[in-house]
Amino acid sequence: MTPTRQGSFRLFHLWGIDVHLHWSWFLLAFYSISERIPKYANPVWGALEYFALFLIVLMHEFGHSLACRSVGGEANQIVLWPLGGVAYVNPPPRPGATLWSIAAGPLVNVALVPVTLVALFLSRRAGWETTYPDVEIFIWMVGAMNIFLLCFNLLPIYPLDGGQILRSALWFAVGKARSLIIASVVGFVGGLAFAAFALIRADMWLGILAAFLLMHCWRGFQEARFLRRVEQLPRRSGFACPVCHASPPVGPFWRCQNCGQPFDLFEGGSFCPKCGTHQAVAPCPDCGAAPAIAAWDPAARRG
Ligand SMILES: [Zn+2]
Ligand SMILES: [Zn+2]
Ligand SMILES: [Zn+2]
Repeated sequence: MTPTRQGSFRLFHLWGIDVHLHWSWFLLAFYSISERIPKYANPVWGALEYFALFLIVLMHEFGHSLACRSVGGEANQIVLWPLGGVAYVNPPPRPGATLWSIAAGPLVNVALVPVTLVALFLSRRAGWETTYPDVEIFIWMVGAMNIFLLCFNLLPIYPLDGGQILRSALWFAVGKARSLIIASVVGFVGGLAFAAFALIRADMWLGILAAFLLMHCWRGFQEARFLRRVEQLPRRSGFACPVCHASPPVGPFWRCQNCGQPFDLFEGGSFCPKCGTHQAVAPCPDCGAAPAIAAWDPAARRG
């Protein structure tokens, strides 16, 4: 159910980002284009309208990816599948960097609003309404699709962009774990409302979408509970992660890179108690970064 590279093929590579297309897009394209054709005198415009939708989704995802890169995060893959696009972004674990990586997607749609309005204005002035009615309908439809996508993505239902924006904004105030708990609970309520709406309308697509949202909210909630447990562990003072500035938890939360023995890296000079191997890298349980052990010690850095 989760979009992955499985069943998709690489479409192209741009600015270091691989764009993959899931095979089911073709199914949807066939269905979607045949639905669009009756609006136009020339059926080619139906296909062009679908292609425009594809481009809008792609630009939105590029917005996420490039913003994430701009704050030093990782983003090298976009997968387009029937429920929309997914940009695989891994921003640095700071609320500001996360907020920017998420908000940049909808901001692309915001930027497209005046573009479509100007195009519509120019086509009206040129009198295309009567001379080329297909062009007029096309511009209108592209503008409407863009605004629909913008509004839909901003619904505060995790993991939609709106839900993730809510989460990042709350992160500033209540921290990483608590913000995710609140966002996934709000998202769960929204997902249930979606499911009810899908049942009333007997709409299969909406039903699939509701199931997808509910599943991801549940996963977000589980992740938040895990983050909360990590947050509540007793901490060792005198060390701070160079990425997220959290002190490491006290306990055997690391494994020896040589023999796999779990032990506390920040005790006894980072030597494995079983095989004696010195550990160079100390992954941070809070943010997932893997800085060198020496980078953790503020005293060592000062000296
Ligand atoms: Zn988005
Ligand atoms: Zn960290
Ligand atoms: Zn060892």
